[in-house]
Order: sequence, then C-alpha cells, then structure tokens
Amino acid sequence: MQIGLKILLEINFLAPRAQVVYYNKMISQTILETIFPRFCLNCDREGKLVCDDCLSLIEINDFVYCPFCALPTRLLNGKGVCQKHYGKFLDGLYFAVSYRDKIVKKIIAQFKYEPYLKTLSPVIAFLIISHLIKTKNQEFSRGGENFLLVPAPLTSRKKRNRGYNQAEVIASELASVLPITLSVDCLIKIKETPSQVGLSLTQRQANVQGAFLVKNPEQIAGKKIFLVDDVFTTGATMQECARMLKTSGAKSVRGITLAREPLN
Ligand SMILES: [Zn+2]
Ligand SMILES: [Zn+2]
Repeated sequence: MQIGLKILLEINFLAPRAQVVYYNKMISQTILETIFPRFCLNCDREGKLVCDDCLSLIEINDFVYCPFCALPTRLLNGKGVCQKHYGKFLDGLYFAVSYRDKIVKKIIAQFKYEPYLKTLSPVIAFLIISHLIKTKNQEFSRGGENFLLVPAPLTSRKKRNRGYNQAEVIASELASVLPITLSVDCLIKIKETPSQVGLSLTQRQANVQGAFLVKNPEQIAGKKIFLVDDVFTTGATMQECARMLKTSGAKSVRGITLAREPLN
C-alpha cells in the first residue's frame, strides 16, 4: 500500500492525524505480511494481496456520474443526479472503478465471498480514496459534523454467517482516513431478502421494500450522509436505504462504492 500512502502524503489531502493513523495501519499490515506471506490474487506474486503492479493497472474513475445513467455531474448543474432521474431518493454516487475491470472483480469476489479476505479492505479503501482525490471533492477532505458515513446494513444473521458486513468494513476503513464520523447502528436491516442476482429492477425494488429501519433518527437528523457499499448494481438497495434515511430526517444521501455494474 505504499503507493496509496505516497499519494495521500504528497497531496496533503488529509489532516496530519489521519495520515499518522493510516501510516501505522500500513506498518502493522507489513509486519503481518512478513509472518504470513501473501500472494497477489491477480498474478500470484508473493508479497501483497494485490501487488503494486496489478494495483496500478486498475483504472480509477476521473468523474462523478449520475448513479442511474452515463451523464457526468459537470453536465448536471452541480447536482449528483441527472434531470431524468431527479426525484429519486439517492442524491448522487461516487464509484471508484468499473465492475468490468477483471482485477476489481477478483477483489470483490474474494472479499465478499469465500475465502472472505477481510484484509482486502485497505486496498478497496485506497481505490475509493484515489477516486475522491481525483474528483477533487473538498467535502471529503474537510469533513466535519454535518457529514456521516453509514454502511449499507446486513441482517444480523447474514453478518454472523459471513463473519462481517463488507460495507461496514469498507466504511470503517474510510472513517480511519477521512475526517467524517462513522455510524454503524443508525440504519439496520430487519428483513432477510432473497439474492438479487438475476432479478429485474422491479423485482429487486419489491425485494428490498421495508427491509431497512432507522434505529436512531436523532443521529441522522439534518446530516449529509455518505452511504457505503461494495458494488452499485441497479441501486435498488441504496434507493431503499436512502428513502428510509431521508424520510427519517437526513438532509441528503449520496452513495460511495468501490464499483458500479456497467449500464445496459
Ligand atoms: Zn499482481
Ligand atoms: Zn441519470
């Protein structure tokens, strides 16, 4: 992760305290890697889960797009969602890379499914932060109490089965770097939903309807929320989470994900 650290220090994107925290994490990671050698999930080279060469092959998004189409936000009069899709609950989306990228697919597959490599989270956070740096968004570097990072929740049963909530792990990694508070208990998932794979948008929307609940509305009142997840597919889950958060008092809800599925 030296590349990530170098970028962070060079452009002084973050407050010095956050830089120290991140640096210390990198050091402990290096010590762990010495004890338990790792192999790059893309090229099998010994050393890191994703080696620096493979990491540099991943193309980071330069722009912010409407979550639901290919329009970049500079064409949207400063809004995060285009006119056609305006009025949806989600106010915008930051996604670092395309889900078409083969290395990204491998990262997500091994992070989210077996062998459940939770230790890929710094790589994922690095890619997301690189995107935030590229888009020069001052809100992330300044942060402050108006903002809140909220992970897309899982039911407690699903979280127990996997051992962790992947969105929560990414959000926590981001919170260790960005000057924005993390809240893992304001939004919860109360209903198990069937797998969304292979379903149409309408079926997905019906699936997630009523699946989420805001537990502590006072935590989110008037806040600008960044809703964190691993992949944005049709947006059905994020829309439903955003609906719950906004009807419970949040000022705005924008998504942050590692990847977005290619548009049809
Ligand atoms: Zn490699
Ligand atoms: Zn649009």
